[in-house]
Amino acid sequence: MEVCVVSGKGGTGRTTVSVGLAVALGDLSAPNPIELIDCDVEAPNDHLYLRCADAGEEPVLVPVPFWAPEGCTACGACARACEFSGLTLLGDRVEVFPERCHSCGACTAACPTGALTEGVRRVGVVRSASSPGVALRWGELDAGATRAAPVIQAARHGRRPGSQRVLDGPPGSSCSLVAAARGADMALLVTEPTPFGLHDLELAWRAVTLLGVPSAVVLNKAQRREGRIHSFCRARGVPILLEIPLDRDLAQAGARGVPLPVADPAYGPVLRGLWSCLETVFAPRRAV
Ligand code: SF4
Ligand code: SF4
Repeated sequence: MEVCVVSGKGGTGRTTVSVGLAVALGDLSAPNPIELIDCDVEAPNDHLYLRCADAGEEPVLVPVPFWAPEGCTACGACARACEFSGLTLLGDRVEVFPERCHSCGACTAACPTGALTEGVRRVGVVRSASSPGVALRWGELDAGATRAAPVIQAARHGRRPGSQRVLDGPPGSSCSLVAAARGADMALLVTEPTPFGLHDLELAWRAVTLLGVPSAVVLNKAQRREGRIHSFCRARGVPILLEIPLDRDLAQAGARGVPLPVADPAYGPVLRGLWSCLETVFAPRRAV
């Protein structure tokens, strides 16, 4: 089972739920630890909650074109082939802009002389570590790099059959969310009872629905029955599986990096129950 925890914006409690699930499910007696993948590669922080030391790292490399003046006839075919303004012809020189390149390979395929070849560029790193019962991986986008998706894909790489995985998704509903949620068994949409929360919940729900990923909602910071979010979910057939009440002590514990089931042990069985519900309701649906 692979569950991607997402929210349309930051600060709604996505990491609280992701880390809370992993800690609640981390079982030393299980043959394999639960895997927690932090896909918020611009600001990963799950490792701060788990207080685990780095165990290793792998660079994330993406293909980029490499131009050599020898053999270039300045025909401009490479620049015309690029839909992302990743390179341009300036006089008799080809200038490559690696930060705009999407590694599609169209330019090198279009070059008739072989003056353009494929090189690689580092855009980030994937780190791994572990704490009792939890195997953690997280991606980090390099400073100045703009392509989060390859780092997220690298962090997700290597899913083992039958593994239990929690993906702590990126905030927002852009291509980073697509990279994190595509192919997951289901998405857990974390929201809060505010107009912004509802707006961003709808964006995130639309994105995962377009990807064909079924979803359910966790309502965080719930103070009272929030009519608009309940109405939204009811109208779309999206179940609200958990409401976490607004609680000053929990908020302060979260700010200190204390996982939810550690701050309040009552959340251990609550989160394990949530996971059982996801396995029961969603995994068979994907398997059909
Ligand atoms: S690889 Fe694709 S995106 Fe990158 S410069 Fe070439 S054509 Fe443009
Ligand atoms: S397609 Fe090849 S030969 Fe033509 S301008 Fe580009 S690098 Fe030079």
